[in-house]
Amino acid sequence: MLPGVRLVVLGKQGAGKGTQCVRLSHHYVVPHVSTGDMLRAAVKSGSLLGQKAREVMDSGELLGDDLIMEMVADRLSEPDCRARGFVLDGCPRTVGQAEALEALIAPVELDLVVDIEVPTSLVLRRLAGRRVCIDCGANYSVASPPRVNWTCDTCGGEVIQREDDTEDAIRRRLDLYERQTTPLIGWYTERGQLAKVNGIGSPDAVLGRVVRAIEHRRSHPHGGGRISPRQDPSSRGQAGKKRLSGSGSGGAVGRKGGEG
Ligand code: AMP
Repeated sequence: MLPGVRLVVLGKQGAGKGTQCVRLSHHYVVPHVSTGDMLRAAVKSGSLLGQKAREVMDSGELLGDDLIMEMVADRLSEPDCRARGFVLDGCPRTVGQAEALEALIAPVELDLVVDIEVPTSLVLRRLAGRRVCIDCGANYSVASPPRVNWTCDTCGGEVIQREDDTEDAIRRRLDLYERQTTPLIGWYTERGQLAKVNGIGSPDAVLGRVVRAIEHRRSHPHGGGRISPRQDPSSRGQAGKKRLSGSGSGGAVGRKGGEG
C-alpha cells in the first residue's frame, strides 16, 4: 500500500500553497487540513469559534496559538489523519504553533516541511485574481475560472473573491507572514526538516518538485547532519503540553485523552 505522509506546507499567501496541498493530498491519499478553511467553515456555521474568528480574520491578523492548536489537535485526532497522516496548510504560522505541533504528533515526526518560494510581486498579482469556492475552498482565478458561471466544478458552491483578499488585508498578511512565519523557516531548517521548492511554473511542475523533495527526504531520512529535537530537550518548548497519546500502527497522531 502507498505509504501516507505527514507534511507541513509553508509559503506566503498566493504562493500556490492551497493548490499544491490539494494535489499532494490526492497524490498521497491523505487529508488536506487547512486551518483557514476550518475557520471559514466555523464563521459560516455561526459557531462560537466562528464568532471569535470572524473579526480577526477580516482584519488580516492571526488568531491565538492556543485556539488554533486546539482546533488542529481535534482534527488530527480523527481516524483519517491517524491512519494516513495529513497535509497541513496554513499551520504552523508561528514558532509557538510549530512547537505545539511537534509535541502533538510525538513520538513520530513530520516527513517534511515544504516551503514554496515565489517573489512577492508575483504573489500580489496572483492574489488580486484569486477566487475560491465558499463551500469546499477549491481555488480558481480570473484566468482559470470554473467551467460554469462561477459555480464550483467540484461541489457546485458559489465561487467568490474572499473578503480578506482586499489589497490592504493582503499587504497586512504578507507583512505578518514576514514577521511571524519567517522564523519558522529557521526553526525547521535547524531540525533538518525543511525543503525549499521553487513555486514558479505550472501547478504540475511545482507538484513534481515537491514530490521529488519528499521522496528524496524519505530515502535520506537522517541526511544533512540534522540534530533530532528529541536529543535536545532545550528545544522542545511546550513539549508534552498538548501531547496526545500514541496511536496504533499508523502512529500518525493519537486521539485526545478521554475523547471518543
Ligand atoms: P488562510 O486561508 O490560511 O490565509 O487563513 C485565513 C485567516 O485565518 C488568516 O488571515 C488568519 O486570520 C486565520 N488563520 C488561519 N490559520 C491560522 C493560524 N495557523 N494561526 C493563526 N491564524 C490563522
